Amino acid sequence: MQQNDNCIFCKIVQRRIPCDKVYEDDSTLSFMDINPASEGHTLVIAKAHFASLLDIDEASLVAVAVASRRLARAIQAALQPDGMRVGQFNGAAAGQTVFHYHLHIIPVRAGQKVGSHGRTPGQPEAIRQVADKIRAALASPGSQDAAR
Ligand code: 5GP
Ligand code: ZN
Repeated sequence: MQQNDNCIFCKIVQRRIPCDKVYEDDSTLSFMDINPASEGHTLVIAKAHFASLLDIDEASLVAVAVASRRLARAIQAALQPDGMRVGQFNGAAAGQTVFHYHLHIIPVRAGQKVGSHGRTPGQPEAIRQVADKIRAALASPGSQDAAR
């Protein structure tokens, strides 16, 4: 699997730096954003290093998309937001700061103003508690029962 020694997300994949992991499969990893734009802000990343949408391979792209639906369903069950933004940035000019392909899942409450992502550190304990709820929802039978 291709990795980049200078990439923070590759270091997370390699467990060289910690994260609040909520889900993983052979080709994706999902964990809480340390600077959440809202409660429950989750990142879904390819385990292999691809800088952006322009160079990710098709299998990884599909795997991230499938994982994002799994996470979105679990976040809906765990936190019951009124909506969710799923976003992805390519290139510094577009707002990308970590050049390793990833999706943001940002739960939104009705009337809530969601600021820019990646700006303000969250409270580690609060993030851990939200991660626990998402993990519990993922483990709950039936959490993925919507039509495939
Ligand atoms: P981008 O702007 O590249 O789409 O977003 C990168 C995201 O990664 C930001 O929202 C930022 O808060 C998050 N992030 C950056 N470094 C780390 C880290 O070491 N751990 C975690 N959990 N999130 C990170
Ligand atoms: Zn990387």
